[in-house]
Amino acid sequence: MGAISIRNVVKRYGTGASALQVIHGVNAEITDGEFVVIVGPSGCGKSTLLRMVAGLEEISGGEIGIGGRVVNDVEPSERDIAMVFQNYALYPHMTVYANMAYGLKIAKVPPAEIEARVQKAAKILELGALLERKPRQLSGGQRQRVAMGRAIVRQPQVFLFDEPLSNLDAKLRAQTRLEIQKLHRELGVTSLFVTHDQVEAMTLAQRMIVMNAGRMEQIGTPDEVYTRPATTFVAGFIGSPP
Ligand code: ADP
Ligand code: MG
Repeated sequence: MGAISIRNVVKRYGTGASALQVIHGVNAEITDGEFVVIVGPSGCGKSTLLRMVAGLEEISGGEIGIGGRVVNDVEPSERDIAMVFQNYALYPHMTVYANMAYGLKIAKVPPAEIEARVQKAAKILELGALLERKPRQLSGGQRQRVAMGRAIVRQPQVFLFDEPLSNLDAKLRAQTRLEIQKLHRELGVTSLFVTHDQVEAMTLAQRMIVMNAGRMEQIGTPDEVYTRPATTFVAGFIGSPP
């Protein structure tokens, strides 16, 4: 259902002589239900690649497929994905419940179905006691969970995460990491997770894609990447402090 195909994907910003190529032919086949982490230093093209999968950025070459369908020309809202960002802007005037329900209301999901989905997400994320609170009455970690709740209730085929833990302190980051793992265990939704932190990548990934300067240096399990780095870049990056 939620397999992702990335085939020879290229991205250029601008045109003609001033064009800047930031993704140079990336290939990856992500299977249904897999948790794959894209890791690499700042500026290597992680967000660009993720945004192309989301449809928020046009691709300059190649092909992206989701669930067996080529989505190059498919609008983001039609791609059956949900994205969780680093800056999880919640609606400040709405309750936790309303924040999670809002997108479903817009999509005209029947009220009883909305109620059921929000309650289920609240249970998974342990937000049940907080549903009537406003974002300002929540801790950073709780807000991040609401942001994840908004993604879960949409029941997408694919979750896309762009450094969702970067604004959290170390303790909260570790805790939220566990929650994301639990989420994946329970829902089994195909996930593509971007981070510049190789420790985070090692902990979360079933397989990881190591990127450098717009190229994929290696794809493999954390164990493979750690014990058999494919390039000197990978060897240096994996051993370096976050
Ligand atoms: P990462 O997420 O790995 O930090 P990005 O995907 O954000 O990297 O950026 C990759 C490269 O593309 C960087 O060199 C960045 O400056 C460039 N870039 C990103 N967005 C744009 C844009 N809208 N216009 C021009 N260049 C961009
Ligand atoms: Mg980024």
